[in-house]
Amino acid sequence: MANEKAFVNLDNARLDEQRAVMNIIVEDGVCPFCPEYLARYHKKPILREGEFWILTDNQWPYEHTKNHLLAITKNHVEAIDELSPEAYAELMEHFRWAIKERNITGGGIAMRFGEPEKSGGTVRHLHAQLIEPDIESPDYEPVRVKIGKSKK
Ligand SMILES: [Zn+2]
Repeated sequence: MANEKAFVNLDNARLDEQRAVMNIIVEDGVCPFCPEYLARYHKKPILREGEFWILTDNQWPYEHTKNHLLAITKNHVEAIDELSPEAYAELMEHFRWAIKERNITGGGIAMRFGEPEKSGGTVRHLHAQLIEPDIESPDYEPVRVKIGKSKK
């Protein structure tokens, strides 16, 4: 995809099914995380909705995760400095809720931003991830969040 302002970056897609949906999104020419389009492509239930964020499960969780939640900004935002302190406070409140609700005893938070070549993200619309590894899965490997594009 040559258009550097595309809403999604297929180079960063991880799974065939994800890539297929991303192809449709590219054809539709819309942002899949904007509220008016989210339900069209995202089939997981919305767990919570605040003033600034919605909280949901990742449709394509990373391998070896027990929980992989996404908090998605309700406005189309791509840079972390576009958010207010109140928005960050609400983000942490959503994650605190999820940690308690799912009894998450450890894991990590990631938020990539900006140019997809540097973020390694598939969708430009700002989102944060809460990840709990599944250390008891039989073929367990540590969960790695890729930041930056893959080497060709
Ligand atoms: Zn958007």
